[in-house]
This record gives sequence, structure tokens and C-alpha cells, in this order.
Amino acid sequence: MNRAQNPNETACCPTRQELNDFLMGRSSPVIAEALGSHVATCPACQQVLAECEINPSPLIAALRESLREPPLDDVECARVVAHAVALLKDIQSRSTASDQPGPSGGFKRQERFPD
Ligand SMILES: [Zn+2]
Repeated sequence: MNRAQNPNETACCPTRQELNDFLMGRSSPVIAEALGSHVATCPACQQVLAECEINPSPLIAALRESLREPPLDDVECARVVAHAVALLKDIQSRSTASDQPGPSGGFKRQERFPD
């Protein structure tokens, strides 16, 4: 039998847009599965996906960049928490100065933030 089958040339390659959607996770599960199995065996589509990876949209690039930032270490985290507590105490001192049991009375639970 004469089955023309060239591994470098697949007749039904998805479009670049479809591949991009696949990359962004915007494909429906059925399509994503089909694309995934196709791409796994199609060098041409792998090439397109690689190009999409190299040149992502600005939003995706920014999101990826944010993931590269290391998480706060303990010292940095403690500093941020201390800053937040200081801000809270500042708010508390202002609200207690006026001594009004207004709707912001919840701020007076100082015992939850020991020194
Ligand atoms: Zn393909």
C-alpha cells in the first residue's frame, strides 16, 4: 500500500492561533488533548510552539517574569508584617483618641497583635 506519510509534514496541522490558544490554556479540554497528542508527534508544530514561547504576549511575559521573583524570605516577611502592624496601630491610636465606638470598633482588638 502506498500511504504517504512524512513525519515532517502533517496534513492537518492546527493553525498558529490554535496552537497559541493551546499554549495559553484557552483550548477546550477535547481540543487541548487532540492538539497535545498531535504536537507530541509533529516537529513543525513543536517549532511553532517554541516560537510562541520565545515571543509570548506582553501580559504572559509579565506574568512569567513575576513568577521568577523569589518569594519573600522570613526576614523580609517579618518586616512587612511589622510594617502592617505599625500601620494598624497608627489607625487604632487615631480611633481611640477620638474615643468613638463607631463602626470601626473592630480595630480595637489590639491583643491580637502583641509587640
Ligand atoms: Zn502539526
